[in-house]
Amino acid sequence: MNVAKRVATRFLSAERAAAIVAEKGIAECLKGMAEYITQDFLRWNEFEKSARVANHSHDGVIELMPISDHSLYSFKYVNGHPKNHRFGLTTVMAFGVLADVDTGVPTLVSELTLTTALRTAAMSAVAARALARPDSKRMALIGNGAQSEFQALAFHHLVGITEFHLFDVDPAATDKLVANLERMGLSAKRFASTREAVRGCDIVTTVTADKTNATILTPDMIEPGMHINGVGGDCPGKTELHPEVLTKGRVFCEFEPQSRIEGDMQQMPADFPVVELWNVLAGKLSGRQSAGEVTIFDSVGFALEDFSALRYMRDLAIEEGVEDQISLIPELANPKNLFGCLPMSAPVPSAAPVLQAA
Ligand code: NAD
Repeated sequence: MNVAKRVATRFLSAERAAAIVAEKGIAECLKGMAEYITQDFLRWNEFEKSARVANHSHDGVIELMPISDHSLYSFKYVNGHPKNHRFGLTTVMAFGVLADVDTGVPTLVSELTLTTALRTAAMSAVAARALARPDSKRMALIGNGAQSEFQALAFHHLVGITEFHLFDVDPAATDKLVANLERMGLSAKRFASTREAVRGCDIVTTVTADKTNATILTPDMIEPGMHINGVGGDCPGKTELHPEVLTKGRVFCEFEPQSRIEGDMQQMPADFPVVELWNVLAGKLSGRQSAGEVTIFDSVGFALEDFSALRYMRDLAIEEGVEDQISLIPELANPKNLFGCLPMSAPVPSAAPVLQAA
């Protein structure tokens, strides 16, 4: 029988992803993603890992982030172009794929721009639950752009933060964040500088975008017991923390070989001591050791978080009954006859008549 093999690839568009997140509720999605990330970080040694591949240009970077375990492979395409607002585009845009390791069939193609904001915030909260003081209530949020609402909501719902201190060099970005947080029932205070915003905070999240070695936080701003969640320094030549801030406490990262190149720790010597966070989540190494200690999560975003996020969005799509599929792989009756997938309805031009010898 001549039956073509049906290769189904589930498709999650930007609109569909936003709809299912709204339907489920952002708080539930952040909790779900944090749970999936934790599950996968606890299986750290089952993954084939590598630092992402980055192509740099004058105004930005485009990166590919692959990872796999014994059954699933994923990659994310993501950019970082801090000047993109001039073109009406976000700084960070992404999409990604989940594939079956046994056959290589791509089983999901998904938007990952919204999903990246959710997974980054969920990752920050997972780290803060292990590293920040458990009684933390007040967080400074420096950088009030696209990621900021998600960070605030993750820290509210997963860490228990109730007071937000905001600062951005662009007052319109803070206006937008204040309005969005109010719609979510959260109030926030705005400040005229980073220094004023961070004073007296339990947690400081830096999530600014500038392709430069910025010094958003200087050592004199760091108070005993603070947890620093450094999110925006995520590329060679793009940092947020003065190097001395990293000497104020223990530094935790995602995947050390990538973080040493991309994180704020790129400013430190190659033997500067850092702890991969999975060790703390797995109970192999301690997180915070005392109330007065300073802890620093030098986040850059690692492929495993996107693997977890893609798994979560796939499961959410199934739960919400999303049936969208795209045809990515040709359907063939005979897998050796790829040529046979070409439409041949047009008549094949006839060859010149062969002259028969008399
Ligand atoms: P965005 O451009 O939407 O927002 C960045 C904000 O930072 C802007 O409002 C800008 O005015 C503000 N800013 C710039 N310089 C500042 C300064 N010196 N002080 C205060 N505010 C300043 O970008 P976004 O999508 O919110 O991303 C923010 C950063 O987070 C980017 O650098 C991005 O690469 C990074 N990021 C990291 C991860 C991760 O996993 N670690 C994931 C996603 C994004």
